[in-house]
Amino acid sequence: MARANDAVAAALEEYAELFAMTGGDAFRVRSYQKAAKAIAGFPEDIAATAVRSVPGVGEAIAKKVEEYLERGGFRQLDDLREKVPEGVRRLTRIPSLGPKKAVFLFQELGVDSPEALAEAIGQGRLRGVKGFGPKTEENLLKGIEQLERTSARVHVGVAMDLAERIVASLPAERIAYAGSLRRMKDTVGDIDILAVGPVSMMDDFKAMPYVAEVIASGEKKTSVRTHEGLQVDLRVVPAGSWGAAMQYFTGSKEHNVHLREIVVKKGWKLSEYGLFDGDRVVAAEHEEDVYRALGMPWIPPTLREDGGEIAAALRDALPVLVTEDDLRGDLHTHTDLTDGIASLEDMVAAAHARGHSYYAVTDHAPDLAMQRMTLDKALEQRERLQRLQASYPDMRLLHGTELNIAPDGSVDWPAEVLAGFDVCVASVHSHFTQSREEMTRRFVAACENPHVHIIGHPTTRRIGRRPPVDADWDEVFRAAARTGTAMEIDSFPDRSDLPSDLVRLAHHHGVRFSIDSDAHAVPHLANQRFGIGIAQRAWLTADDVINAWPLERLLTFLGR
Ligand SMILES: [Zn+2]
Ligand SMILES: [Zn+2]
Repeated sequence: MARANDAVAAALEEYAELFAMTGGDAFRVRSYQKAAKAIAGFPEDIAATAVRSVPGVGEAIAKKVEEYLERGGFRQLDDLREKVPEGVRRLTRIPSLGPKKAVFLFQELGVDSPEALAEAIGQGRLRGVKGFGPKTEENLLKGIEQLERTSARVHVGVAMDLAERIVASLPAERIAYAGSLRRMKDTVGDIDILAVGPVSMMDDFKAMPYVAEVIASGEKKTSVRTHEGLQVDLRVVPAGSWGAAMQYFTGSKEHNVHLREIVVKKGWKLSEYGLFDGDRVVAAEHEEDVYRALGMPWIPPTLREDGGEIAAALRDALPVLVTEDDLRGDLHTHTDLTDGIASLEDMVAAAHARGHSYYAVTDHAPDLAMQRMTLDKALEQRERLQRLQASYPDMRLLHGTELNIAPDGSVDWPAEVLAGFDVCVASVHSHFTQSREEMTRRFVAACENPHVHIIGHPTTRRIGRRPPVDADWDEVFRAAARTGTAMEIDSFPDRSDLPSDLVRLAHHHGVRFSIDSDAHAVPHLANQRFGIGIAQRAWLTADDVINAWPLERLLTFLGR
């Protein structure tokens, strides 16, 4: 089962947001945000520890957390949710509209959602309202449109946490998530849950604390919107058609269309209830059987995008995809020496508990000025790491750094300093808007630096917050392949960087990859599973991934 920490942190974050919207004291807002961060980063399951032992959690917050753990909510949050409907919170996500104006529109004009705001503008109800001129109206309409296009999607980390909570919360004989989440897309628009169990489950579902609004409800399907603004569809399916339903609702649409062509050629029918030859059931209970009956092995959900997987399956030539079990280490992680929140000792112990056979600590380098890194600090850390090594005979500790690629492609330290590190990750952390030519030259120069092993989070995108940089990726990947520089798949779910389409492109150029957590806290180490999702969607095998290699092969790659 999922740890309770993320759910608790999300509730505190939400409370902080609502508290701020309703004119709450900024100092207290920050203390709730800080507590949320500390709990999310706390290594143990908060449901099994004393909440008060988490640094930054005082008595008032601890009480709320305890109530949340008991019943999935706390009174003050319930009150604010009532005061500020979910639609009003979506209003604040319109780029040109702040929280104060959103609350004003709700209280003065009854505008309770972006849709209601568009309507109010259309009806001229904002005319003459102080602070809302014609220019503002125009901007708001543009903002609403933009919101509709993007904000219904959340990154895979948010969706996965929610889906796992839902799956754990319902009294089903069998329950699983399907849809784009099962395919491990990096953003998810809605969550599809399939279940076998009593119809009464629908009532349980509607009453769950994560539900903000019931959109539609029937015996077979119930749709709700959660407090995150995400739509969740719960379908109760017959036990005998479980496999067909999973196949159908996992998609993608394009994959299923292609599959149906094969079905039709056989004169059969495929639906969410099964694969049928007239009235005869060919396959229904097991997903594997559906594929087998069509002359192919089971296709992993991460490949189901109609990107050649059906043809490969028919030839029995599907790749043996890299899995989380294949990973033997992590090559990009941080500690509290820079912007991490856990100590070196705690991070290393947690990495060891994950069963890694090697682990690199790569704190930030000096050019990221706010991290106040110095060579002395780095060398001191190296000594500490070497001393720690004695306690971990079966895990090789690597001392690394995350360098900053300057606008001209150079990095923080001269060659002789770089040579002292076991692993150098080099990343772009500034000057994101350089021209395509400049950015391409910048990456190529970093690849050509013989001390740089890995390009960290290459596109620098933050999902929903920062667009990817513009570069000629073909040229960058050619340089990476030529120089033996690995491209990173940064597994942090709001980065998911490289994204799977660029991984696939890089793979064509012969590039190797490093699937890293970029952890800044102990729980982040588990994010590697999202990187695995990206790698699988790009058809990678274990041989393509340097941190799936045995230690000796990795050390050769690193020139050690
Ligand atoms: Zn970075
Ligand atoms: Zn990093």
